[in-house]
Amino acid sequence: MPKTFKNFINGKWKSASTGETFDNINPADSGQVLGRFQKSGKKDVDEAVAAAANARKSWRSMPAPRRGDILFRAAEMLVKDKESLAREMTREMGKIIKETRGDVQEAIDMAYYTAGEGRRLLGETVPAELPNKFCMSVRMPVGLVAAITPWNFPIAIPSWKLIPALVAGNTVVFKPASDTPVSAYNFVRLLEKAGLPPGVLNFVTGSGTEVGVPLMDHPEVDLVSFTGSTDTGSQVAQHCARQMKRFSLEMGGKNAIIVMDDANLDSALEGVIWGAFGTTGQRCTACSRVIVHRKVLKKFTDALLKRAQSLKVGDGLDSKIEMGPLINESQRQKVLKYCKIGVDEGARLLTGGDVCKTRATRKGFFFQPTLFADVSPGMRIAQEEIFGPVLAIIACNSLEHAVEIVNDSRYGLSSAIYTQDVNHAFKAIETLDTGITYVNSSTIGAEIQLPFGGTKGTGNGHREAGTAALEIFTEWKSVYVDYSGKLQKAQIDN
Ligand code: NAP
Repeated sequence: MPKTFKNFINGKWKSASTGETFDNINPADSGQVLGRFQKSGKKDVDEAVAAAANARKSWRSMPAPRRGDILFRAAEMLVKDKESLAREMTREMGKIIKETRGDVQEAIDMAYYTAGEGRRLLGETVPAELPNKFCMSVRMPVGLVAAITPWNFPIAIPSWKLIPALVAGNTVVFKPASDTPVSAYNFVRLLEKAGLPPGVLNFVTGSGTEVGVPLMDHPEVDLVSFTGSTDTGSQVAQHCARQMKRFSLEMGGKNAIIVMDDANLDSALEGVIWGAFGTTGQRCTACSRVIVHRKVLKKFTDALLKRAQSLKVGDGLDSKIEMGPLINESQRQKVLKYCKIGVDEGARLLTGGDVCKTRATRKGFFFQPTLFADVSPGMRIAQEEIFGPVLAIIACNSLEHAVEIVNDSRYGLSSAIYTQDVNHAFKAIETLDTGITYVNSSTIGAEIQLPFGGTKGTGNGHREAGTAALEIFTEWKSVYVDYSGKLQKAQIDN
């Protein structure tokens, strides 16, 4: 019998009020049920929010360095449990074991880095315009945070939200993606063991409609921190706007790599393959368009084809495997649909385009690494987020032309350029309209000490990670201390 996992509310593990559960399955072997999770509803959300509201006062008054100590302990526990957390993550999410180790490592980096914010949380001191007066700004917690996360980074993305939210003195209700609740459970359990007081972090599983909606609509929730698709993000924005509630959105991407005629093509090839087929193309920063200078188009396309056809697809727990399954059947059908759209639009299918049919892959949601050539920038496969192992090859004539193609997108998350020319590199940095640009590296591989997020339809102006995350999870308070012993009027007594 698969294990039944519970919600975590006010420091206690509890079943949902609905009495129902849902199954968590292995995408590499869909008959394998990994666990049963609580199918929660509004009542459970209300209880979790009440617990978080209750814990707000004591948590925000705990000195920030003490809050940081708890998160530092969590970092140490993540290091200790890294391998088992990664293996469980590969089982429930499908990405290969090297990548799930990277996912846990990202949470470790985030926890060590951000625990230190407990001793920084920097504000400003500035001169006052009047004598005997002192001016400073300090960071205050926002209050009660609802964290809603996707399945493609089952521990890393929750860590980007929970850790900065907690160190800044907020309490949290966390709703994980329904496809990856085991990793979310493991992360919450670890934070509990690290010493979070009851009510500070609450965990409620269940669907977007039954848990996500009542959570973001709850009047006690001060901030919704959301990562997921642009369609869902737009709903989050509309719900929050009605209550004038704060929200931060990290959403979709249609990321591109430019390969110039002076590029180191061997290095570009590895970068494009990694960007397009790493995590089976299911990263928000995945490379789904490669824009290749005409002078090297044939040579580079031939090399891409050879490399894509040699990728080993299978169960990510096998260390020889290079690409795992898609997350679920509906995602696989979506990718298949886009491959048909690509063919109908007149793109040339070079390889792939269908579900995997080998003996080793029959039980899971596997899809063939897919390459389309002769793609024009306006085609749907060059414009819409597919979120699968499908790469569109687009020809360009110059750097300006390449940048124009990259920027012709509703999204603006990540971009990259391969070139040996420093002038091209800096022009690309200046003109590519994305939140992240890599030079001579793939579109994926962000480090946690820099801001993460995108322009246009990818976000709403916020950035996660680094110190930028504090802008989401804190409110500024400006403080004026007058020690003159009399009334001094700013702008008037000068
Ligand atoms: P999703 O369908 O939008 O779901 C994201 C989260 O929102 C899940 O927890 C989901 O719950 C919940 N949800 C669904 N409908 C909701 C609603 N009406 N109200 C409130 N919550 C709701 O996205 P996904 O398929 O999990 O993730 C893939 C997407 O995330 C891609 O577009 C990818 O680009 C994006 N992403 C962006 C970033 C970034 O930093 N920019 C990072 C990673 C992923 P259920 O799981 O229960 O449906």
